[in-house]
Amino acid sequence: MKKILAFITILLILVISITACNTTKVGLTNNTNTASTTNANNTPANKAGNKLNIYYLNVGQADSILINTPDNKSMLIDAGNREDGNFIVNYIKKLGIQKLDVVIATHPHEDHIGAMAQIIKTFDIGSFYMPKVTTNTKTFENMLRTLQQNNIRAIYAKGGMKIQLGKGVDIDLLAPNRSKYDDLNDYSAVVRLTYGKKAFLFEGDAGKPSEYEMLQRGYDLKADVLKVGHHGSITSTGNKFLEMVNPKYAIIMVGKNNDYGLPNKETIDKLNAKGIKIFRTDKDGTIHIVTNGQIIDVYTKQ
Ligand SMILES: [Zn+2]
Repeated sequence: MKKILAFITILLILVISITACNTTKVGLTNNTNTASTTNANNTPANKAGNKLNIYYLNVGQADSILINTPDNKSMLIDAGNREDGNFIVNYIKKLGIQKLDVVIATHPHEDHIGAMAQIIKTFDIGSFYMPKVTTNTKTFENMLRTLQQNNIRAIYAKGGMKIQLGKGVDIDLLAPNRSKYDDLNDYSAVVRLTYGKKAFLFEGDAGKPSEYEMLQRGYDLKADVLKVGHHGSITSTGNKFLEMVNPKYAIIMVGKNNDYGLPNKETIDKLNAKGIKIFRTDKDGTIHIVTNGQIIDVYTKQ
């Protein structure tokens, strides 16, 4: 019996190692003593350790970001387009996550709330945040109806709010800071997450007017990783804002050969000029970041 158990254990270790090898570690850490972090402990499926995992899901021309804390709390920021529903649901389930403690719909555009109704129907939801703005699309109405059917009361996202997630994880909302904007994108809930010494900023589609307000409010914008606003459009990532965020890595969530010509070349040039390493979902697929609060590792599918 013992022999069989030992054999199964070895087999399991092999399988886990092979699975771990399917991803490439890129954009090496800012610390040279980190080679040992390339192992199976980096996946939440194996919850050992003190790692925070962030998955920038490859949902094409859309946003969907999953965060899993060291004590296994989960947060989803946006839910891609409608057709991304099964992909997102399966990704979350495969990680063994059954409850989304926090869900944020940054703003009610299709490419951010497309599959939100499906997400709400599928998972147990802790709290749900969205900006206080309405639109008359079927997708938005469907999301509201599904929230109601599941007795979930949306909390209106606003700059200055704090969100509770896992132990040691601080989450601040930095936007929206006004109750009225001309552009629906500027209602985007902007999220700053810190864990240990590392900070992550998720801009949704917030544009320069919202970036300007975040600067005016004097929020701490510094982040090691910036999820670039509005799919790398020139309407976001103003100079002063980028200077204050001062990221080491930039994540651009964008579809291959999208109709909008995104990301804009100006944005790419601006990031390159500052020596910021860019990861893009159209080129790198799903981008998986792991941090223990001291160092950051970035993994992309080959
Ligand atoms: Zn968008």
